[in-house]
Amino acid sequence: NLKNQKFVRKQYAQDISHELRTPITNLQLYIEAIKDNVIDADEQTLSSLLEEIHRLEGLVVNLNKSFNDNSEYLKINKKEFNLSDHINSLLDTVKPRLNKLDISLIEEIKDGIIINSDKDKISQIVQNLVSNAIKAIKNDGLIRVSLSEDKNNIYLVVKDNGVGISDEKKEAIFERFYRIDDARNTKLNGHGLGLSITKNFVESLGGRIKLKSRLGKGSTFSVILPK
Ligand code: ADP
Repeated sequence: NLKNQKFVRKQYAQDISHELRTPITNLQLYIEAIKDNVIDADEQTLSSLLEEIHRLEGLVVNLNKSFNDNSEYLKINKKEFNLSDHINSLLDTVKPRLNKLDISLIEEIKDGIIINSDKDKISQIVQNLVSNAIKAIKNDGLIRVSLSEDKNNIYLVVKDNGVGISDEKKEAIFERFYRIDDARNTKLNGHGLGLSITKNFVESLGGRIKLKSRLGKGSTFSVILPK
């Protein structure tokens, strides 16, 4: 019905605006770093920047379509690709932001992992988790991103040594608009959408997301995707 359609559209518009923000910040800082000669504008850098821009373009095109129909955004487009290369290039686009905040990144990406999945959805999952890890970190920041596989599954793990999440809140943080009101959040103005989008995407790809966390010690988000 009409009321329901309006609700779905509003939800969709909120999700898209959330998803546009992080990659735009990353692109901006990346280009600033090139301008300041901190990063070389080599072939690989330019291709990963271009890929990000194409993805943003796709989001905007879909946003336009959503005024009639929101199915595009939710649609899953699977194809086979090298997930290891993709994660490496996504992490490259985050590096300027990490450098600026003095956060160290440990990359444990096993080479040559091939997946048949939706590349754009995976990009958003990774960016949301890394972006949350960055926001959770106060000082002496450390983020570890690892990618591995076994016979049946692929494991993507984002670990931070930030503020952590208490046991009572571990489930609620995956709900829409749920935010933990602490110093970090008032400062950085989240909307409580990132993790609900992330969980939806992971589940729509047939996977699941798990959280381990200790208040004051840090959090580990593990995404398990079927092969
Ligand atoms: P937001 O836009 O507020 O970051 P999310 O849905 O991504 O929304 O996250 C919901 C809440 O979960 C956040 O407000 C934050 O308090 C908590 N959270 C998410 N990721 C982490 C993390 N890595 N460490 C600590 N808290 C986190």
